[in-house]
Amino acid sequence: MKERICIIGAGPSGLAQLRAFQSAAAKGADMPEIVCYEKQADWGGLWRYDWRTGVDEHGNPNHASMYRYLWSNGPKEGLEFADYTFDEHFGKPIASYPPRAVLFDYIEGRVKKAGVRDKIRFNTVVRDVRFDNGKFEVTARDCATDKETREIFDNVIVATGHFSMPNVPHYPGFESFRGRILHAHDFRDAREFTGKDILILGTSYSAEDIGSQCWKYGCKSVTVAHRTAPMGFKWPDNWQEVPALVKVEGRTAYFKDGTSKEVDAIILCTGYKHHFNFLPDDLRLSTANRLAATDLYKGVVWVNNPALFYLGMQDQWFTFNMFDAQAWWVRDAILGRIELPEAKTMEADWKKRQADEDALADDYACIAYQGAYTQELIGETDYPSFDVEAANKAFYQWKKHKKEGIMTFRDHGYVSPMTGAMAPPHHTPWVKALDDSLEDYLQTEPAKTGQKIAG
Ligand SMILES: Cc1cc2nc3c(=O)[nH]c(=O)nc-3n(C[C@H](O)[C@H](O)[C@H](O)COP(=O)(O)OP(=O)(O)OC[C@H]3O[C@@H](n4cnc5c(N)ncnc54)[C@H](O)[C@@H]3O)c2cc1C
Repeated sequence: MKERICIIGAGPSGLAQLRAFQSAAAKGADMPEIVCYEKQADWGGLWRYDWRTGVDEHGNPNHASMYRYLWSNGPKEGLEFADYTFDEHFGKPIASYPPRAVLFDYIEGRVKKAGVRDKIRFNTVVRDVRFDNGKFEVTARDCATDKETREIFDNVIVATGHFSMPNVPHYPGFESFRGRILHAHDFRDAREFTGKDILILGTSYSAEDIGSQCWKYGCKSVTVAHRTAPMGFKWPDNWQEVPALVKVEGRTAYFKDGTSKEVDAIILCTGYKHHFNFLPDDLRLSTANRLAATDLYKGVVWVNNPALFYLGMQDQWFTFNMFDAQAWWVRDAILGRIELPEAKTMEADWKKRQADEDALADDYACIAYQGAYTQELIGETDYPSFDVEAANKAFYQWKKHKKEGIMTFRDHGYVSPMTGAMAPPHHTPWVKALDDSLEDYLQTEPAKTGQKIAG
């Protein structure tokens, strides 16, 4: 009987896995049977925009964490697929910081070309995974028909992402705050905060980007409270960074340095948790959001049961092409092309990776570390090799450009690690680009009538 492989999730990681298997099949490999479960109605993971918050249409926790007007927060050159370039997809060079819809189109273009959609069971949420007698039993619910299925697999690949389960702190006075409190996971449209004073908790990408969105779409002021250190960019005049929040009373927020501020809304940009409610303890990854995840050999093999794999569980500088590197490697481990060492060696591997990570001096070193990791995996498979150093360089320049101007860094372009070509500038500076639609982005000139807000 054919081996059966289960992939959970059809976001960029799960789709990378489907493409990896399809690529081997196209070269004549004998393929296992593959089933990909996806709880949403379409593929693309976080890149599929969903206006809903709270629960989805079937009552499951809503996966979506992306919002309207989201533009890539890093250069597209750092995430480009080596087997499907931006130039191939769009038929022309495009600028370096595409909006969400453009990246969704790019992700979708590759898997449409590969013809893997029929392997995905949409609207189907995995509820439970058990390992018994050398096999996995996967229980899922097809939410469209409201039917439960139980199927047996030889391998399970968890590709469910880790930016969907919000980490929500509590502060005294939240219960009686006379305004809106929401986590970044439920933020959808910056125009909700036009004319408002907003308080953001946290210093992550979400804090920086949601604050910038609200500023761009006309909020009255942005206050960002930090627990350890401020982000330290050169912010606009109506933007301040303050020490940690202590409490709120009515609409007033009080901070650790004794200052206070009246605010209309509090947005918790306080991060996400790795969360796998469908896995029993002995199969469940438990790790901090870091570059070398705990208990994963080569960042992907579950050391305690090497028939189980995880994709994309690291903190991320590199994304799509790192997921590809992992997916190609996992495919080859499953197909027996890569031999897994004994448990002791696998355990030593992730510990060494974490020790190396702990010794990294700064973000530049972290980027190089993740670039080297991606390169290492690619070097052990037939994924097309690419100029990882050029991708590192795009990230280094991106960091420098953010320091120079947090509202202008997206106006820069970088060299593709796949084609060696320099990206052209976008037709409109980011602060003035209110329309984030694919159609507007792909135009070479700004619309003659001026910028409209899509939708
Ligand atoms: C607000 C935000 C902005 C970001 N911006 C960028 C950016 O600009 N550039 C960048 O490169 N990266 C960005 N990222 C990082 C993002 O994590 C990756 O780009 C990418 O989406 C990760 O892919 P993934 O497939 O691992 O996970 P996800 O995209 O989260 O996909 C996981 C999939 O698994 C499915 N799933 C989950 N649980 C189950 C279940 N039990 N059963 C069945 N299916 C399930 C989900 O529905 C989803 O489709 C951003 C993340 C966030 C939250």
